[in-house]
Amino acid sequence: MNQKNVHWFPGHMKKAWRQILEKLPLIDVLIEVRDARAPVATSLPPFPLKARQSHLIVYNKVDLAAPLSQDLQEGDSTTIHVSLTTPSGWKTLSQTLKSMQAKAHQIDAEKGRKPQPLKLMIVGVPNVGKSTLINRLCGTRKVATENRAGSTRGQQWIHTTLGYSLLDTPGVLTPCYESQDVAYQLAAIGSMKFSILPQEVLARYLFGCLVVAHHPFVNGFTGEDYHTFLLAFAEKRQMKKAGTWDTSLAEETFLHHMATGKLGRFTFQ
Ligand code: GDP
Repeated sequence: MNQKNVHWFPGHMKKAWRQILEKLPLIDVLIEVRDARAPVATSLPPFPLKARQSHLIVYNKVDLAAPLSQDLQEGDSTTIHVSLTTPSGWKTLSQTLKSMQAKAHQIDAEKGRKPQPLKLMIVGVPNVGKSTLINRLCGTRKVATENRAGSTRGQQWIHTTLGYSLLDTPGVLTPCYESQDVAYQLAAIGSMKFSILPQEVLARYLFGCLVVAHHPFVNGFTGEDYHTFLLAFAEKRQMKKAGTWDTSLAEETFLHHMATGKLGRFTFQ
């Protein structure tokens, strides 16, 4: 496969992008979920939000990412770093939304309006944790949807357990970057199918990133040692095929370890 031919923003993604833009005016808070292991690769292009609307960036899966050396702030966006599968991550997220709701109610009161529930939309690339967040937000009420009058084309809203209104489908997008680094990183964290890239190319890329980051998993290896590393990986796990070390299986397992966090905590720079 010619890697230059990989099409990063296929037609169905353009459609998803357009659908998100259509829904944008309906909401108060756009929640963009990113994977803390690949903060750049999983970030989406800027959204045209109005001054009354908030952008909440949720860097999820911090349990799999390298510990943060500094808190990254991005313009007017609110940024949190969490693991949505842990109680503390969920607490951070719910407190953030609570304070956004309080601010919105204050504006409602100042304008003499009845307080409205915060309207949320969740967006992000595949596998970053959008469904996990929706399930946490909705609890048992996930099925309780309504067709809100006056909304665009019968938009479905879900009433969440915390009293917010959530658009029923998350916006699933792939970033429109023409960069191979982005594609490799998305594949390595499971946001894009491995099969779209040759396994060896992806595994070599990951190995190189781990070496540069002095990651303990590749301790003692230099960037030139990829084959030696694979042999050691296969030998340690007794992966054999036709009497020799099965480096192909080693490569596949190495990539799988990255996608599932078994390599240890790591963040792409
Ligand atoms: P979506 O494709 O964006 O909807 O992602 P999902 O919510 O389906 O999550 C993808 C996978 O990541 C699932 O196996 C989740 O259990 C897992 N996941 C979600 N959040 C976290 C997290 O904070 N830490 C870890 N380790 N896994 C997570």
